[in-house]
Amino acid sequence: MTNIESIHARKILDSRANWTVEAEINGILGASPAGASTGTHEVPTVPAEVACDFINRKIKKAFLNHEINQKEIDRKLKFLTGKIGSNGAIATSFAVYNFLWSQNTERKSVFPYPLGNVFGGGAHGGACDMQEVLLCPKNAKTFPDAVQKMTDAYHELKKELKDIGLSVGMNDEGALTATIGFMELMDILKPIADHNGCAIGLDIAASEMYRHNKYYYKQKDQFLSEDEQIDFVNHLIKKYRLFYVEDPMNEDDFDGFSEILSKNKKTLVCGDDLTTTNTQRIHKAVKKINAMIVKPNQIGTVSQTVEAIKLCKKTRITPVMSHRSGETTDATIARMALDFESPIIKCGIADMRTAKINELLRLWDKTEKPKMAKI
Ligand code: PEP
Ligand code: MG
Repeated sequence: MTNIESIHARKILDSRANWTVEAEINGILGASPAGASTGTHEVPTVPAEVACDFINRKIKKAFLNHEINQKEIDRKLKFLTGKIGSNGAIATSFAVYNFLWSQNTERKSVFPYPLGNVFGGGAHGGACDMQEVLLCPKNAKTFPDAVQKMTDAYHELKKELKDIGLSVGMNDEGALTATIGFMELMDILKPIADHNGCAIGLDIAASEMYRHNKYYYKQKDQFLSEDEQIDFVNHLIKKYRLFYVEDPMNEDDFDGFSEILSKNKKTLVCGDDLTTTNTQRIHKAVKKINAMIVKPNQIGTVSQTVEAIKLCKKTRITPVMSHRSGETTDATIARMALDFESPIIKCGIADMRTAKINELLRLWDKTEKPKMAKI
């Protein structure tokens, strides 16, 4: 049994140059990420300085010399999220998790497949209406090979876009950006994905384009009704053999998700803003989705995140551990994906995103008989 001997919180910068919370417990760190296309049902944040001040005054007093027990600490943090926000809570909870991880040398050996954002838009920046065009190297037999396939495809797409004369940039998630029609982009990407052994996925982040009960596609200046949106998503799944579609419908439209799943049983129809890592919402989504994004800072603590993962597994929903668009070099979610056997981790490809990938590469290297998850 180890006690909390020191606890301190400070402001640090995230990848968008915004302040975020870093907590340090017995010298071990945890930092909060931040979303841009946040779901309405996420636990709210508070300004980083407010969270740090509360942790350094009140939480320090309450927690010092108490046992480092994840469940106990998280139980207290859960009731303090009104004061420290999901950002203060997750930074503290991550620091506890990372401390316990550093003390325990037993490791799981089944690694998640990376799901990387190769081309982006929406709330993360870029002309594309779709927030994320994703690649999953499903044919890879090892984690390093998966990373190789995904990055080869990333570099090839970048080159092809440049070769046709486009100016190629990078957005908040390190995904490529260019001014090109979405279907044209998909037509270029499909053969690249195929010959690199990658399947294509999309995060449509449909709540971001939902206006007056319709879905607005700004590139085409076109509104789609709910039925038209469902038809469009079904068409994309068929045409590009999508293995994964995240948030295809607005965040409260459980039946819309269900309708898409009913016609596409082999595709992972994934909730993010729909479910917000919240067990109450997961219960509502059972049989309506077959995959769910797991973002610890949507709910506030590691223990609540683990409850969400367990409920997913019990109800045949594939958990997909995920980063946020605002990130730090904190790699807790990479450790959690391994620890709690999430078969997929969505953590980007380039830029600051490599912190999570590199942690999994290190862990793969150190594991005696590592193997890839079944997806
Ligand atoms: C997402 O929607 O899956 C995402 C990572 O975006 P954000 O962190 O901006 O919510
Ligand atoms: Mg999403």
